[in-house]
Amino acid sequence: MHSVNQEIKLYLPQNISLFLKREDLLHPEISGNKFRKLKYNLLEAQSESVSGVLTFGGAFSNHIAAVAFAGKKFGFDTVGVIRGEELAGKISENPTLLAAQQNGMKFVFVSRESFREKSSAAFIDRLKKEYEGFYILPEGGTNELAIKGCEEILTDEDAGFTHICCAVGTGGTLSGIINSSLSHQKMLGFPALKGSFLSDDIRSFVKNTNWDLISDYHFGGYGKITEELIRFLNRFYRETEIPLDPIYTGKMMFGIYDLIEKGYFPEGSRILAIHTGGLQGIKGMNMVLEKKKLPLLNYI
Ligand SMILES: *Cc1c(COP(=O)(O)O)cnc(C)c1O
Repeated sequence: MHSVNQEIKLYLPQNISLFLKREDLLHPEISGNKFRKLKYNLLEAQSESVSGVLTFGGAFSNHIAAVAFAGKKFGFDTVGVIRGEELAGKISENPTLLAAQQNGMKFVFVSRESFREKSSAAFIDRLKKEYEGFYILPEGGTNELAIKGCEEILTDEDAGFTHICCAVGTGGTLSGIINSSLSHQKMLGFPALKGSFLSDDIRSFVKNTNWDLISDYHFGGYGKITEELIRFLNRFYRETEIPLDPIYTGKMMFGIYDLIEKGYFPEGSRILAIHTGGLQGIKGMNMVLEKKKLPLLNYI
């Protein structure tokens, strides 16, 4: 399955071109990279005849939304281990969790401390006992099979691009893209969170060295956004009719424009940015923005 590359002509110097690979349009519910990351995992789960799929995520997780929907669509049980005990009584106020619940997902709410232990052997053993026969997917869905799925994002038609840009959470998507890149291409990852562990994680998944992380556009950390970013996203939508999500693709696109302005990209660069989806999270983000009396994202 291939998605279209849409040219963006907004505010660019003449000698630089920018295209957006619309992975967000792959599927209305399992959008963008989450579709890619689930594909081979669900095929594997099916071949093992598992009792269901258990995974992990935060309050507005695109991965949780995607797994819940896939469970409903393909007919398997889903369990979401969710960060934050306080969310247990507030499902109806959280559009992501409410939709996941309506799609049949059962939740286990855990404290932030327990959630941090989620990849420990003891924690996983306990879950395995309680949810016998479940296929366990890590937070964000990143594992070898997820990366294999993300290797299908780039196609032969993308060979002419000089730079490929992708938002980074766990680094699984970027790793897949790096694995399928050509040696003359430069892969740029834009982390949506603070932290220096990502490079090591990515190195463990890839062989090529034609990549870099651009760590200046996390806007204070995961899920943090500023008025400047909101205004950029609203303007980008007004002028291109393309919705970007504020957690990942919005920060990447802000970064790309900032780098273009600073002369980072050489003359003649042909940039391909990946729209990895994530639009289901906008409703929840607007609720947070409203509480903080910040302007809202006005395109959903
Ligand atoms: C999950 C997500 C990412 C991050 O993907 P990783 O493989 O974890 O790096 C990027 N963009 C969107 C929209 C996402 O939902």
